[in-house]
Amino acid sequence: MRKAILLPLCGILLAACSTVALTGRKQLNLVSESEILSASLTEYQSYMKTAKLSTDAAATQRVKTIAQRIAAAAEAYLKATGQEADLQNYSWEFNLVNDNQLNAFCMPGGKIVVYTGMVALAGAGSEGDSELAAVIGHEVGHAIAKHGQERASQQMLTSLGSQILGAATAGKSQQVQQAVAVAYGMGTQYGALLPFSRKHELEADYIGIVLATVAGYDANAAINLWQKMQAASTTSTPEFASTHPSSDKRISELQKNIPAVKATYGKK
Ligand SMILES: [Zn+2]
Repeated sequence: MRKAILLPLCGILLAACSTVALTGRKQLNLVSESEILSASLTEYQSYMKTAKLSTDAAATQRVKTIAQRIAAAAEAYLKATGQEADLQNYSWEFNLVNDNQLNAFCMPGGKIVVYTGMVALAGAGSEGDSELAAVIGHEVGHAIAKHGQERASQQMLTSLGSQILGAATAGKSQQVQQAVAVAYGMGTQYGALLPFSRKHELEADYIGIVLATVAGYDANAAINLWQKMQAASTTSTPEFASTHPSSDKRISELQKNIPAVKATYGKK
């Protein structure tokens, strides 16, 4: 039974592979982009119904300004890498949500949410601005590299493994909805949280420092930010750390990549 199921599945998998433009890495896409976009929008809208927006106008404006500059950098980046067709999927929104947890996310389609806990961790001044740019750049990096689509596909594959017949016929949109929720760290309602893989984390870090640099921020702030994040996650396990696992390699990769990124993308 199992073999008979796996054979056609392999065919589906081959057909469902696409490539990350930046790295040339092959990725699995079992869920179409339009399915992801519509499921993400539903997920985002239901999240925003319960989220409490910050009432601190200055802090909100600060986050919006930084996120807007990162978004503009992302658009320039997509154009420069021949992915301008993806731009039609983006309708950016920027929010500062009142929550002490260290968290931030960017849904496919450009819905960015930063928690006040993250703003507190980043601190004030231009150094803090650059740290927030690093976080937002990292999140937008996950979005433009379509990591969510890949993760939702992996999640779908897990459900396909256990419920292949059901998934192949009825209720696919329900499955996509759940897969998207799990892929974006909103899966606690389904009893699941799916951490980004090390590969995804390093890829998002790299795109993040490129976007921060293009947007005019100091990419070195990413190192400080991730060090603070690591220190914070030893005393508690914030949601961000559980979905964006850190590795020793992260800091060394940033240190290695930042000079070249600054030389290539920085203001000349
Ligand atoms: Zn991440």
